[in-house]
Amino acid sequence: MAAKKKRKRPVPREGLERPRNGGQWTEARFTSFVKSALRGARWPQKYECIKKAFIGNGINPATGRKCKLHLCPTCKETFPQNQMNADHNIPVVGAEGFTSWDDFISRLFVEGDGFTATCKPCHKKVTEAERLARADEKGKTIEDLEKARWYLDREITLRQAKEA
Ligand SMILES: [Zn+2]
Repeated sequence: MAAKKKRKRPVPREGLERPRNGGQWTEARFTSFVKSALRGARWPQKYECIKKAFIGNGINPATGRKCKLHLCPTCKETFPQNQMNADHNIPVVGAEGFTSWDDFISRLFVEGDGFTATCKPCHKKVTEAERLARADEKGKTIEDLEKARWYLDREITLRQAKEA
């Protein structure tokens, strides 16, 4: 080991600065609080995008009741409104990670054409793929990527079987 190399001393947890919420929260805890508050905001353009995926009236398979059906462009199946999600075409936090609040807010609250209405199961997969892309960018966790590949292969096989 090089003698000159300085070792970073790990910061003890009790030594963390807690400037937020009356001295209870770190800056990171506060940042994630603000992020989830913003993500939870009911941005009307999201619902506009889901409305556009409406293809006709049908029956909700979960309840057996009449409902409005929406087409998922990814799996080509139909879903009631509560099973649809408005997915950001450009991820709110990209592979480079969080950059600034200006970027975060302008990517989060895009206009309708910045969203694609997808079903919740497809949205989940996209979110997971994006998370893995970020991890990959940082050179993290190959195991996760293999898990993702397994998952996607399985999905493809299932879909092909269904179409055949
Ligand atoms: Zn889908």
